[in-house]
Amino acid sequence: MISWDQMKGRVFSFLKTNITEIRDNVQELRALCVPEKPVYEGQVTLEEYEDFVTSLASPEGMSSEKAKIGMGALGVAGEGGEVADIAKKVLYHGKPFDEANRDAMIKELGDVMYYVAFLARNVLNSSIQEIIDTNVDKLQKRYKTGKFTVAEFMAKEAAKG
Ligand SMILES: [Mg+2]
Repeated sequence: MISWDQMKGRVFSFLKTNITEIRDNVQELRALCVPEKPVYEGQVTLEEYEDFVTSLASPEGMSSEKAKIGMGALGVAGEGGEVADIAKKVLYHGKPFDEANRDAMIKELGDVMYYVAFLARNVLNSSIQEIIDTNVDKLQKRYKTGKFTVAEFMAKEAAKG
């Protein structure tokens, strides 16, 4: 009898050793199949999105808790940087904020969401819904009128010390 962690280790080791062969076989099998349902048909629930994100995670990124934390946190930072890069080019390099840049920003925000969902599900044992609810709760406590006020913002800044 071996532990679950030992079993996972053996499975990941097998996958690492045989990943090229497995990938080729999966691609051959996929080519033989007509999907009954596309992976993405438009609107998905947050939970379905978390399932989708988790199914796409690389074996390397799922190989340990450290790997999952690193992949998620670095992913959020990296993709957030790509959002900032679009803004920088519009603000300082003369690029127009046109349809193409709007679409690019939507795509990059989607990439941020991917890693938020990844962290929520695979590292925090949480969900996108809990993250949204926690954020709403925090902001409702900070802005009691439901609107931004400088006084409440400054009170929050002062509390940081
Ligand atoms: Mg990206």
